[in-house]
Amino acid sequence: MSARDKSHTSRASDGRVGRTWERLRREPVTSLSGVGPRVADALARMGIETIEDLLHHFPRDYIDRSALVQIRDLPIGDEATFIGTIEKVSSRRPRPRLKILEVEVSDSGGKIRLTWFNQPYRERHFKVGEEFAFSGKAEIFRGRIQMSAPSYERIQGEQGAVGGLEVGRIVPVYPASAEISSALLRRLCWEALERAGSFAESLTPPERKELNVGERTFAINAIHFPKSMSQRGAARRRLVVDELMRAQLALAMRRRAYEADSNAIAHADGSALLASFVDALPYSLTPAQGRVIAEIKESMEAPIPMHRMLQGEVGSGKTVVAAASLCLTVAGGHQGALMAPTEVLAEQHYYGLASLLGEIGVRVELLTGSTRDSQRVISAARSGELDVIVGTHALVQEGVELASLGLAVIDEQHRFGLHQRVHLRGQGADGLVPEMLIMTATPIPRTLAITIYGDLDVSTLDEMPPGRSPVKTVWISSDARDTAYEHIKKEVAGGGRAFVVCPLVEESSKLEAAAAEEEFKRLAEGALQGIGVGLLHGRMRPAQKESAMTDFRSGATPVLVATTVIEVGVDVPEATVMMIESADRFGLSQLHQLRGRVGRGSKPGICYLVSDAESEDAVARIEALCSTSDGFQLAELDLELRGEGSLFGARQSGRTDLKLTNLVHDFPLIVEVRELAKSLLDEDPDLESHPVLQAEVDRFYSGEVGWLELG
Ligand code: ADP
Ligand code: MG
Repeated sequence: MSARDKSHTSRASDGRVGRTWERLRREPVTSLSGVGPRVADALARMGIETIEDLLHHFPRDYIDRSALVQIRDLPIGDEATFIGTIEKVSSRRPRPRLKILEVEVSDSGGKIRLTWFNQPYRERHFKVGEEFAFSGKAEIFRGRIQMSAPSYERIQGEQGAVGGLEVGRIVPVYPASAEISSALLRRLCWEALERAGSFAESLTPPERKELNVGERTFAINAIHFPKSMSQRGAARRRLVVDELMRAQLALAMRRRAYEADSNAIAHADGSALLASFVDALPYSLTPAQGRVIAEIKESMEAPIPMHRMLQGEVGSGKTVVAAASLCLTVAGGHQGALMAPTEVLAEQHYYGLASLLGEIGVRVELLTGSTRDSQRVISAARSGELDVIVGTHALVQEGVELASLGLAVIDEQHRFGLHQRVHLRGQGADGLVPEMLIMTATPIPRTLAITIYGDLDVSTLDEMPPGRSPVKTVWISSDARDTAYEHIKKEVAGGGRAFVVCPLVEESSKLEAAAAEEEFKRLAEGALQGIGVGLLHGRMRPAQKESAMTDFRSGATPVLVATTVIEVGVDVPEATVMMIESADRFGLSQLHQLRGRVGRGSKPGICYLVSDAESEDAVARIEALCSTSDGFQLAELDLELRGEGSLFGARQSGRTDLKLTNLVHDFPLIVEVRELAKSLLDEDPDLESHPVLQAEVDRFYSGEVGWLELG
């Protein structure tokens, strides 16, 4: 341990002296002792292949074993750690919904009972005779000492060899797998740190001082093996700064790069066409729509490519704003493109835009994977015969060329990757860079907006068109489903429409589709017999989807059993009831999106959340949804409860590079780092005096790191 403890204090302020992440990325874990092919495979399955990966596999918790206590000396009501042997494991069920696991533990001088409520799976963790370290707060219950839900870890003999890693210190607890224990990770991290010595420093002393953080070498060592809990906090802060710094620099550089692009289109003033567009609308714009359209118009007229995100609640009227923007590009003599994530949505946009823009003579065409006369549309795009093309990613895939692309509007953009974005960018005629407008109905909390979308301007529709009916949200248990079915029947009899949303199966669209088909049968032959029931899921063919939507719209099948494919954009004003099965499986934002599909007409809507969930997190989410319809508030809560992954769906959540950053609690730091990143770039646009940082940002910028691809 001495080698490393020395490097702890040695000055490594000249970054080039220490190890860079670049270098550690080239060192496989097999360079560590005891890591053969079998262990290496098991590590790889956890995403750990190199020393860099290993050292970024941060502890999920720490147990303070620096002061070990005997059971009989455990302080009452204060956190403490002791080591004991399992004597007895039992569980009982005093009430139907309460299961208590009890574990008796002893050491040489005392005995204690440990309890866990409603966590039956923990029973497997304990075997009589095994030794564990437990940390928690002891309490007296009915005259006996006990501890409720302590954290724990098994003390395994093999670690004795490494000595000192298991007890007598603050011990890191790593996310482990069936094959790779936390104890093994501990030993590997220890060895990796010892070998690495010092780490290349990315920030100068004044910069570190400004952000109030220590050296990187200290931080990496102390995040794994802190000498005190306050060291751990300091280490974390520094590493959060590293994460944020890379991200903010990459975003800022990206923004500077496209702003410097001399091939921007400065759109001519399109006021005249815009005015006739607004005149032709069957309603007047909301003040928010007016303001946002003005913001967009100003950006489009400026000689800098627009890069703007348009966010607004479901139903806040983003489509009209998109139409107005497309109208502005057409007025300037260019063409517009609108890209939607699904065919259903693309079609819907097409019909919406064709009627909004057709009035004023703007020619709109649709191109998706199932467009029959696609060649005609493609050549109309090339020749400039069409003004606006609407489509799915087929627009990109089929190599559609536009005579002069002035504006690309992307709906629900977090469903696309960076690649599409880049691709569309490159499509301006004569190398001109088109304006970019990205619409999202997922409200983005400010903190997330600047961390992940820091290179975008943001316009917000914070106001609903008048006459919107509120959606009442009701939580029911599965045995109360009949209430919802009765309601559905009543609404349908009165000309309404209803959605039944099937449980989310994140891992498999196939299973999800199968479940939807089953639910469809169950309802059509059971509770909703005699009513037309339709089916819509992601694995149906485009034509089938189209006809399912058409039948639902027309009322031929007033009930639609669907998966989350209806989450975005589906706009059927007659829909008044939604029933979401296993609502606890969805994220808050997703539920909010879903419920936005009802109450879009003049009649009030109702959303039934069916769930028997009992977990704290699920209950919190469902209750939040019942109590507010403010999407921003829900998004912030979701962010707090589930991390930023929730906003993008679980598929992407594992891809974030922000491993330690908590977007809610670290917000003040995010702002500080953003400021510093800006001033660094003002002085040194290419980061030439910050070679370490430059290399790290480069890697980030090049898209090698996943989450930037979100967008
Ligand atoms: P979003 O895309 O934001 O979910 P839409 O653009 O689909 O919302 O608009 C939702 C509904 O509101 C549409 O039926 C649209 O015609 C209507 N709408 C939009 N703007 C207004 C307005 N200013 N006044 C009245 N109705 C509006
Ligand atoms: Mg929409």
